Amino acid sequence: MNDILNDLVAVSREYGADPQWVVAGGGNTSLKVDDILYVKASGFPLATIDEGGFARMDRSKLAAIWNTDYPAGEDTAAVAERERLVLADMMAACVPGEEKRPSVEALLHDLLPWPLIVHLHPTLVNGLTCGMKGQAIAGELFGEAQEWIPVTDPGYVLAKVIKDTLENRTARSVNAPDFIFLANHGVFVGGADIGEIREKYSRLKKSLEDRLVRSPDALPVKTTFPGAAAQREILSKITSNFFGVNLETTFVSGGELEKYLPDADAAAPLIGSLTPDHIVYAGPGALYLEAGGSLKEWETAAKSFSDFWGKSPNIILLGGNSENAGAFVAASGEKALDNAVLLLGNALEVCAFTESFGGPLLLDERFIRFIVDWEVENYRSKLASI
Ligand SMILES: [Zn+2]
Repeated sequence: MNDILNDLVAVSREYGADPQWVVAGGGNTSLKVDDILYVKASGFPLATIDEGGFARMDRSKLAAIWNTDYPAGEDTAAVAERERLVLADMMAACVPGEEKRPSVEALLHDLLPWPLIVHLHPTLVNGLTCGMKGQAIAGELFGEAQEWIPVTDPGYVLAKVIKDTLENRTARSVNAPDFIFLANHGVFVGGADIGEIREKYSRLKKSLEDRLVRSPDALPVKTTFPGAAAQREILSKITSNFFGVNLETTFVSGGELEKYLPDADAAAPLIGSLTPDHIVYAGPGALYLEAGGSLKEWETAAKSFSDFWGKSPNIILLGGNSENAGAFVAASGEKALDNAVLLLGNALEVCAFTESFGGPLLLDERFIRFIVDWEVENYRSKLASI
């Protein structure tokens, strides 16, 4: 590796270290130099990445993936088989000696027509991408300078959709867009250099800030569990079924979270999921329990959650008219617990921002299950919990 990567490392750290742009292990960046694509490898957070955190890939081999026939079909088996084959071809597209696993979006990075690509999950931008009126407002604000990509399975399918979209623009003699919005996910921005990336991101931020009807209140803070010891024990038991011997738990309350605790209807945005980051780090959705409910009721509700998703909840909202209201958070290990708390806070902020863009639009069950089951995402959450 050499000086060529200085700008890539610098822009990755600049945006990666600032939680308004990306949290936990999310987001990815890349640089094209001749026939080599340097793309963020899985398991290297942008905030601290250096030259060693990028996988080197042969662009001609990546391009050849588009000439390969993969199984069509949308049933689970066909999708899994296609993703497995594409992943194998992606790994084979790494230059000899490369052992790191490239970002699952490497194929997409390669086809975008700029040398430098910075893909982020900004909280404010996700207020737009998770907003009921997000697509209409994006069109209103940026016109042809943006593309809106509906919720799409990550990896090959997403890359294909964006490839087709860009080819369609070329056919209409329309320039590549400044912003590629991914519904319920984030945004892709490309440029010739860091200056162009900064200009686009600051323009995007300013345009969205001008539309805000309110900013999020303070986030909930960690506090001691206010309920009885028996209640804490049952919550730990409910979650330890999945998170096992490394179970770590905490309790958070106050701030923006208060708005979601009066009843299950108010909690709906947190019972659902906004983006893949929330699913990966904070589970497929929160479990809502009445804080004043019986332990038996809690156990029954937890069992149906686990039966439905095949895993225990990371976030248990204790709602209703009770002093014990708040969120019990559980995960396997301290780092995973910190990430679950972080993503709960992020969900609260994104939800608050969606109020300026028509209110929250949640992911559907099929997509959530796809992410939960997706081997690649499991790999990412495993690395993040180490
Ligand atoms: Zn992403």
